[in-house]
Amino acid sequence: MIVMKFGGSSVADASRLRHVADIVKSQLTKKPALVLSAMGDTTDHLLEAGDTALKEGKVETGHILKLHQDTIKNLKLPVQNEVNILMDELKRLLSGISLIRELTPKTKDYLVSFGERLSVRIAAAFLKTCNMNARAFDAWELGFLSNSDYGRAELLKESWDLIPQKTLPLIKGNVLPVITGFIAKDEKGSITTLGRGGSDLSATMVSAACKAEEVQIWKDVDGILTADPRIVKNAQPVNHVTYEEAAELAYYGAQVLHPRAMMPCMKTGTPVLVKNSYNIDAPGTRIEPAAAGEIKKRAPLRAITARKNVTLVDIISTRMLGQPGFLSEVFSIFSKYSVSIDMVATSEVSVSLTLDSSHDLTEVKKELSKIASVDIKTGKAIVSIICNVKRSSEILARVFRTCQLIAVPVQMISQGASKVNISFIVNDTEAAETVKALHMDFFDAEDRTRGV
Ligand code: ASP
Ligand code: MG
Repeated sequence: MIVMKFGGSSVADASRLRHVADIVKSQLTKKPALVLSAMGDTTDHLLEAGDTALKEGKVETGHILKLHQDTIKNLKLPVQNEVNILMDELKRLLSGISLIRELTPKTKDYLVSFGERLSVRIAAAFLKTCNMNARAFDAWELGFLSNSDYGRAELLKESWDLIPQKTLPLIKGNVLPVITGFIAKDEKGSITTLGRGGSDLSATMVSAACKAEEVQIWKDVDGILTADPRIVKNAQPVNHVTYEEAAELAYYGAQVLHPRAMMPCMKTGTPVLVKNSYNIDAPGTRIEPAAAGEIKKRAPLRAITARKNVTLVDIISTRMLGQPGFLSEVFSIFSKYSVSIDMVATSEVSVSLTLDSSHDLTEVKKELSKIASVDIKTGKAIVSIICNVKRSSEILARVFRTCQLIAVPVQMISQGASKVNISFIVNDTEAAETVKALHMDFFDAEDRTRGV
């Protein structure tokens, strides 16, 4: 068995669905299960519709309806009824939001779930017309059980047993399951989502729980690249990375994979292949455990990413030097207000740390100020280098030299415990320039240090 995941742009319209059918057909003997995203930008459109209902009291589903209707018409699919039922439910939900003028995280998850629920029904109907034994499933029908952390729910341990219990008999019975990515239900039966881009995690979860041979993530880029192609024109695909490297890359801003997507496959060692549905012949990126001897042979760098909108917090203890328990007090204040910390650097009397700037820090600052002097700076970026940290001295020397050449001061630095990541802070406005300069030094230099 294999799992094939197709993202929004890979199922964006009728012509993309034809490609999907070809790709799936060519691998039918491997017994695939499919995991799909919402078509095109449907998730964004659903969120916009929610916003319009909330702020203007209007129900607007024009975009969403048109895309799905056009696809059905174009492919002549007999799913009008099912789609109508979902569209009616969506309209009722939106008019509810427009009446009470309230959109809670729970309702938002219910709202965005329509994207994936529509896409699997349409895709399954189409695959059937292509003589495949496809059947659409909402993830909860196949064991996706999560906690109630709406907007970024975590799958519960039970899912590891439930998913194969429900899915494997289908595969044995030669059914081609077409499963909604991104969504699940909590124990109370309410719909949840796994966070934006969460279909990747749905796919890796199905593959790991079912012990599939491989999971293929079909995107609209040639795999994981050495840098964001919008910043670095000649960014190159990386042919092979480890789970740890892929996870760091996803977290620090390479928008190829969901940050938590590697976790299930790390547990089971299931290989992940990232492929381009717009360029089938490109080899893509293979993500798997590092074979022991291999790390040494590898080039110093895999990729460079930048994550913007970061806040830097400098905390300097006002107590005596060497006071025990200072760090734990600092961290407990952040955890009390559910603010998650990304990077940390400490010295005896001070701590610098970074956070996503979406957090409201008013209360945190108040409490921290009781034990320390606090300085909060916004508008920062984390530049991350995913690399062979065994060669960190060489890499750091080159990083600092490059930053000096372009006159960008490094404001904080940390070497990730995962041993694959060196990160540092620069101003948001300097992030692109820094990534470009580093890419030029490490990848485009004549000595071509890039590995395979
Ligand atoms: N449709 C959802 C999103 O756009 C989930 C996904 O595509 O993975 O975030
Ligand atoms: Mg999407």
